[in-house]
Amino acid sequence: ASVAKVIDGKLVAKQIRDEIAAEVSRMKEAVGVIPGLAVILVGDRKDSATYVRNKKKACESVGINSLEVNLPADTTEEEVLNYISGYNDDPSVHGILVQLPLPSHMNEQNVLNAVRIEKDVDGFHPLNIGRLAMRGREPLFVPCTPKGCIELLHRYGISIKGKRAVVIGRSNIVGMPAALLLQREDATVSVVHSRTSNPEEITRQADIIIAAVGQPNMVRGSWIKPDAVIIDVGINPVDDPSSSRGYKLVGDVCYEEAIKVASAITPVPGGVGPMTIAMLLQNTLTSAKRINSFQ
Ligand code: NDP
Repeated sequence: ASVAKVIDGKLVAKQIRDEIAAEVSRMKEAVGVIPGLAVILVGDRKDSATYVRNKKKACESVGINSLEVNLPADTTEEEVLNYISGYNDDPSVHGILVQLPLPSHMNEQNVLNAVRIEKDVDGFHPLNIGRLAMRGREPLFVPCTPKGCIELLHRYGISIKGKRAVVIGRSNIVGMPAALLLQREDATVSVVHSRTSNPEEITRQADIIIAAVGQPNMVRGSWIKPDAVIIDVGINPVDDPSSSRGYKLVGDVCYEEAIKVASAITPVPGGVGPMTIAMLLQNTLTSAKRINSFQ
C-alpha cells in the first residue's frame, strides 16, 4: 500500500515568510512605510502568552513592527476598548489583534466589533465574516487558520473545485470560515459538528477533510476515503511520559492510521500551525499596502 504525501506546513510557512520579508523591505524603500501589528493580550493564560510571543517573534523575523500591550486579567472592557480605539487611529498600526479567549467578564462581541475592519487582520469582525459568506463580496481579511489551510492546498497543487469537502467543527475561528472558504473555491461542502450522528459516514465521502475539533485522534483511518486529502487543524496535548515535557501534541486525526489511507496529510505539529502565523503576517502586509495605496 502507498503512504500519503506529508504536507510540510513548516516549509511552506518559511517560503511565505521569505516572500513577505522581501515585500516589507520593498515597501519600506519605496514609500518609507513599515507594517505595524498591535497585539492586545488580557490576562495571564500561559497558552495565550506563548501564542503572542510567537507572533511577535514572527513579526520581527520579517521586519514587521509589533506593538504589544499586556493587560491584567481584571482590566475593564472599557480599558480594552480604549486601547483598540487608540490603535484604530494610529497610522503606524495596520493590524490589530485581540488575543482570544478574553476573560469571562468581557463581552467578546463588543471587543471584536470595535476593531476597524480595515485593521481587522484576524478577520473576525462580523462585516468581514459576512462578506466572506456572500457571493460577489470581498472580505478585507480572511481568518488566518482557515486561510492557511487553503493556502497549503494551493501550494501543493491540490484542486478544490468540484470536490467534496467535509469540515469537522463549526467554530467562528476555524470551522465556519473554513467551510465558507472551501465553498468560495467551488467545493461541495458538508459541516460535521458535535450533534452530527454517524460523522464517519459523512467524512467517508470527502475528497478533502479539514478537521478542527479539539479531540485527539478522533478521525480514524476507517473514517477516510482512500486517497482523500487531510488537513488537520487540531492541536491537542496528550500525556507522554517519554517526553521531557511530559506531554506531546497530536491532531484531531489519527495520523498513523490516516497516512496509510489518505493521499496527502498535514502533520501535527508542523502542518497548519506555522501557516496560521504566516497568514497573520501576510494579512498585516496586505493591510499596510492597502492603507498606503502601495502595490
Ligand atoms: P472550538 O472548541 O471552538 O470548536 C470545536 C468544534 O468541534 C465545535 O464546532 C464542536 O461542535 C466540534 N466538535 C467538538 N466535539 C466534536 C465531536 N466529538 N464530533 C464532531 N464535532 C465535534 O475549537 P476551535 O475551532 O477553536 O479549535 C479546534 C482545534 O483546532 C483545537 O484543537 C485547537 O487547538 C486547534 N486550533 C489550531 C490552530 C492552528 O493554528 N493550527 C488555530 C486555532 C485552533 P459544536 O459546535 O456542536 O460544539
